[in-house]
Amino acid sequence: MGSSLSYHLARRGVKTLVLERFKLNHENGSSHGKSRIIRTAYAEHPGYVPLVRRSFGLWRELERLSGEELLVMTGGLMIGRPNSRLVQGVLRSVREHRLPHEQLGAEEVHERFPIFKLAEGEVGVYEKNAGKLFPEKSIETNNRLAREEGAEFHFEEPLVAWDSVGERVEARTAKESYMASQIAFTSGPWLSSLVPDLRVPLQTERQVMFWFHPKKDNDLFLAKRMPIFIWELPDGREFYGLPDSGEGVKVARSHGGILSPPDRINRRVSTMDESPVREFIRSRLPSADGRIIASTTCIYTNSPDHHFVIDFHPSHKNVLIVSPCSGHGFKFSPVIGEVVADLLTRGRTDFDLSLFNLSRFSPSGGLQA
Ligand SMILES: Cc1cc2nc3c(=O)[nH]c(=O)nc-3n(C[C@H](O)[C@H](O)[C@H](O)COP(=O)(O)OP(=O)(O)OC[C@H]3O[C@@H](n4cnc5c(N)ncnc54)[C@H](O)[C@@H]3O)c2cc1C
Repeated sequence: MGSSLSYHLARRGVKTLVLERFKLNHENGSSHGKSRIIRTAYAEHPGYVPLVRRSFGLWRELERLSGEELLVMTGGLMIGRPNSRLVQGVLRSVREHRLPHEQLGAEEVHERFPIFKLAEGEVGVYEKNAGKLFPEKSIETNNRLAREEGAEFHFEEPLVAWDSVGERVEARTAKESYMASQIAFTSGPWLSSLVPDLRVPLQTERQVMFWFHPKKDNDLFLAKRMPIFIWELPDGREFYGLPDSGEGVKVARSHGGILSPPDRINRRVSTMDESPVREFIRSRLPSADGRIIASTTCIYTNSPDHHFVIDFHPSHKNVLIVSPCSGHGFKFSPVIGEVVADLLTRGRTDFDLSLFNLSRFSPSGGLQA
């Protein structure tokens, strides 16, 4: 979010300083791990659809401006029981926004995509407007374009304190004190520690991603054959996967991880992490059941209703909160950069961000009735 915002601000001529605690493309936060899903028929809420549509356009613009390939269209398959949260949510977005899609029975899915083995009673919703993003390359690209537009990046210089001083904000690091007219917090899992008076109960959740070497049918796992998928099992657990572009087939469980402060996340991946994913693969994606090529941890920063938080600080009108994204924000990073730049420079955006307001939380931190 920070790299995208810096680019959108700098290209408007705003003097922009980015303070980053770690190096470029470090692996301590939420934005590493070779690939991210982008999809349109948004199961979480139809309110995200206009934003993701704009994001697709901005991803393509970023590719044009940089000459980098950042988005590969693969199509997307959402699988579950007809009454599952996932399938119901996708169909709600499809209906409200008249999105192109196909509803497929278990046999039809298997005929078109033989790697998927649906259980009895499971169905698929296929959409062509879904694909795979490359996060590290995207961050590098935003960073480069932002620097070309004049943004300044200070890596390995953590913000240690900040204060409202009249109309301005003072940001302090161990090295220096900076005065700015506005500050945006895109600090992801560390938001609560930097803005403790927000009183929104954010949870940081450990996640593990795996890359598998298929046991057979390797060609069917390549991006031109395999759609990204999300799969809700009858017990409510959710798994997702992305096709192989040379790094292996990514498969992981979404949510269900241990809650832990970001600096204390256990970074070691164990067989306890692997076994539910392995079990899922054996029952639903059997030809992917080969050796593990790589694995890594990552952090979700969850709000109570799993929607984003993008809003001005209730007591400081020049302080903007731009995370957390509850584990599904990456696809939106270009449009979030753009709308937040609008909020900072014009005080408003044309998009409806009411889903992301801080006012939906009660003063005690829970959700308002
Ligand atoms: C396993 C996993 C899979 C995911 N899959 C998808 C997906 O398929 N599709 C999708 O759209 N989204 C997905 N997401 C979610 C998405 O990646 C995140 O929502 C998004 O990357 C969050 O970005 P961010 O900029 O808010 O946080 P981060 O990338 O964590 O950035 C926050 C930055 O703030 C810096 N920082 C913190 N404290 C300080 C300080 N004091 N001073 C200076 N800098 C500081 C940190 O070092 C960090 O670089 C996934 C996330 C994970 C973990």
